[in-house]
Amino acid sequence: MLKVDHIRKDFPILSRQVNGKPLVYFDNAATSQTPQQVIDVIVDYYSNYNANIHRGVHTLSQEATDKYEEARNTVQRHFNAKHNYEIILTAGTTESINLVAYGFTTLLSKGDEIIVSALEHHSNIVPWQMLCERTGAILKVIPANLDGELIMNAYDDLLSDRTKLVLVNHISNALGTINPIEYIIKKAHDFGAAVLIDGAQACPHLIPDVQALDVDFYVTSAHKMCGPTGVGMLYGKEEWLTKLPPYQGGGEMIDQVSFEKTTYAGLPHKFEAGTPNICGVIAFGAAIDYMNAIGFSEIAEYEHELLDYGTKKLLEIEGLKIYGTSKNKTSVISFNLEGIHPYDVGTLLDKMGIAVRTGHHCTQPIMDFFKIPGTVRASFAFYNTKSEIDVLVEGVKKAKMMLM
Ligand code: PMP
Repeated sequence: MLKVDHIRKDFPILSRQVNGKPLVYFDNAATSQTPQQVIDVIVDYYSNYNANIHRGVHTLSQEATDKYEEARNTVQRHFNAKHNYEIILTAGTTESINLVAYGFTTLLSKGDEIIVSALEHHSNIVPWQMLCERTGAILKVIPANLDGELIMNAYDDLLSDRTKLVLVNHISNALGTINPIEYIIKKAHDFGAAVLIDGAQACPHLIPDVQALDVDFYVTSAHKMCGPTGVGMLYGKEEWLTKLPPYQGGGEMIDQVSFEKTTYAGLPHKFEAGTPNICGVIAFGAAIDYMNAIGFSEIAEYEHELLDYGTKKLLEIEGLKIYGTSKNKTSVISFNLEGIHPYDVGTLLDKMGIAVRTGHHCTQPIMDFFKIPGTVRASFAFYNTKSEIDVLVEGVKKAKMMLM
């Protein structure tokens, strides 16, 4: 059993007030909050061993390098990558995807096909469209049904020998749907296509095992899982990372430089040009340790309780419609009140101290599919409570009365 009262004490921000009311933070799918244990690691870094890594002979540089590489090993163990050099430390999901999309420029030809899904975040659409522009490849889309689930028959029909890449999110940020990635990966491999899974929304809720999934690339951001912003990772199978060219040129990613010819460093440094977010990476490791200490199965079970409770309570409000009604979903409730713009609801909720996200959630195509401009999205984390959900439900009722 998860001890939520105890856990909440780890998060200093949860005791602040917003607009004179206790903060109710339900914007976890956009970014999660940071526990004191991770904040302490950040303070410790800048207080005691702030230095550039890999190059220095001095003590601080060596300490920082050791901690940075320890964090890479933590990420490797957490995702069960075979080798630590298959973990590339990046600025986050967006950069990880762009790195792979850039790398495929030389590997694709005109007429090759790339499959994305109707549920993708813009960051798992736009880099692939840019890749298509560079190469003449064609973008295909797996459609969704009205529950916000991907239609697997349609996916089967899209696959062919022309398919070179399949790009799908593990869990949808707009609706919370958990996608059948095991099936998607296996089917793509039957056609010799590589698969990248966008795990930004999955990693706060479960532990992906990249070897068991047999996935080619898996990407995520630290800030969705109690870590800092501007840092994340790309897992890539060694054979793929070896094939892809470097994404950015600069310091750290080279073997030898001369004006005649430069040779590149091996993995993982080939993809880590320049001074990285050293403190952020170390704090990412600490965030993974923090979440594992709580336990992902306990987190999943508790968040499911919150999801069921919130869904039931919100549906009691007349005129409230939930988007994303798959049985297989995480603790995200995307909804609208009939005849009321989501932005107006979100603004009134903020006045009551309740933080939700409103708008298209960087997923315009799926909003267009539902013929709506956006939704109000309440996304719960393991440090939220049923009584906070009661505050949200009362807030939505009040907002409805004021806006009707
Ligand atoms: N993909 C999904 C599914 C997301 O939810 C997000 C963050 N909203 C991203 C990609 C982009 O992550 P980041 O902004 O950390 O790069």
